[in-house]
Amino acid sequence: MGYTVVNPYSGKVLKKFATLSDAEVETALNKAEEFYQQQKKVAVAVRAEKLKRFGTVLLKNKEKLAREAALNMGKRLSEGRGEVELCAKLAEYYANNAALLQSKPYSYGAGKKASLEYHSLGIIASVEPWNFPYSQVVRVLAPNYLIGNPVVLKHAGIVAGCAELLEKLVQEAGWEEGAFKNLFVSHEQVSKIIADKRVQGVALTGSEAAGRTIAGTAGKNLIKSTMELGGSDAFAILDDADLKLAITDATAARLRNSGQVCTSAKRFIVEKAVAEEFIEGIKQTFATKKMGDPLDETTELAPLSSHSAVVELQAQVDEAVQHGAKILVDGGVVEGQGNFFKPVVLADIASDNPAYRQEFFGPVAQVFVVENDEQVVALANDSDFGLAGAVYGKDEERAHRVASQIETGQVFINRPSGAYPELPFGGVKNSGYGREMSDLGLYEFTNQKIVVFN
Ligand code: NAP
Repeated sequence: MGYTVVNPYSGKVLKKFATLSDAEVETALNKAEEFYQQQKKVAVAVRAEKLKRFGTVLLKNKEKLAREAALNMGKRLSEGRGEVELCAKLAEYYANNAALLQSKPYSYGAGKKASLEYHSLGIIASVEPWNFPYSQVVRVLAPNYLIGNPVVLKHAGIVAGCAELLEKLVQEAGWEEGAFKNLFVSHEQVSKIIADKRVQGVALTGSEAAGRTIAGTAGKNLIKSTMELGGSDAFAILDDADLKLAITDATAARLRNSGQVCTSAKRFIVEKAVAEEFIEGIKQTFATKKMGDPLDETTELAPLSSHSAVVELQAQVDEAVQHGAKILVDGGVVEGQGNFFKPVVLADIASDNPAYRQEFFGPVAQVFVVENDEQVVALANDSDFGLAGAVYGKDEERAHRVASQIETGQVFINRPSGAYPELPFGGVKNSGYGREMSDLGLYEFTNQKIVVFN
């Protein structure tokens, strides 16, 4: 464990980093606090300019970043480039929307004046996962830098190389010392950081288990937290759906990033009238993906991020089958070099099958056949998660009606779920709370202070 980079394709250990001492963490927090105090006197526009510069630096280093992600966690190069472009868009979005931090007039009583001001809060701890090693960080970093909150990062151990590179690029963009610091720290040190009086917020993207621990520590210390956790998103295919589009999007939405996406389409809920055709379609598309080295541009499905991820996913599939699930597309662990996992499609998953409530973090899809829209909604909502989802149907009003009833933070109609800087991103239920990106993401760690005039 710790901070070790292992190539998911070759299995070779590429880099190892030592964990920081408590004294080094203290130095980092001191510098971050200095940044916070200094920036209170600096106009937002100054940081907006530097945010733009960061976006430019990211694009200039797109190939280097994509390659590092491929070597750390197995992301295909084209997907890595796409992630870097999203990061640059995030930086640009917040740089262009600095006006969101201008004060807003309010009134009270018989027309008396008040003004809502947006102020920085202090140091924000950002605890991030490996599956989007850059964009998960930049989602928190860009809005917080704009407002003037320093960010200290605890990244996932396996993407230590990505964390190091991102920090270098922030420096290249000319940001102030203390604005952003990558910390190679233990879980115990993360708890201590959250408990530090100077730290005023913690943003986690990760598993439910990490969410319970980190939200608990934040609660004990009375600081705000945002939790972007797991999901088991429904992808609904109504009987009037454009099936060609639904099949193409369902496959892409499940197999993107080798299926390791929080908002992947994990449960295909298809209406009976179109079920046969839909199932035939995905059987073909799932079974024919070309697996290979993420650095090879022709690869369609890359290895999973780690050996343990492959082992855990296979155990989940085996358990599902033992409890009666039927295999529509057979796959699983591929013996030999690389953490390869051939896509699997499961059906007939009864509500007492453990798989019914689990998140499958890899290329495994579940198919459920239902009679009508009411059953689509009931099944979609019979989940402990509520992150995103999608509804496919040519009658947009009907699809919208279904989408509105799904208990989730975001639903897409006739398109797979995705991340857009302009749109709020986040979940309900065990998928967490709080929102990232958009205006809502900017205000999460902002002191929204009301100044009231007599
Ligand atoms: P994870 O094990 O929870 O790790 C996420 C981060 O939290 C890592 O940096 C990890 O560090 C750290 N961490 C875990 N437990 C901790 C603790 N007790 N104290 C301090 N830090 C702790 O999650 P993962 O397996 O890497 O990522 C997959 C999960 O993330 C899935 O459930 C997925 O759905 C979810 N996810 C959600 C979103 C979203 O936006 N909602 C996006 C992407 C992924 P170490 O690596 O050192 O353990």
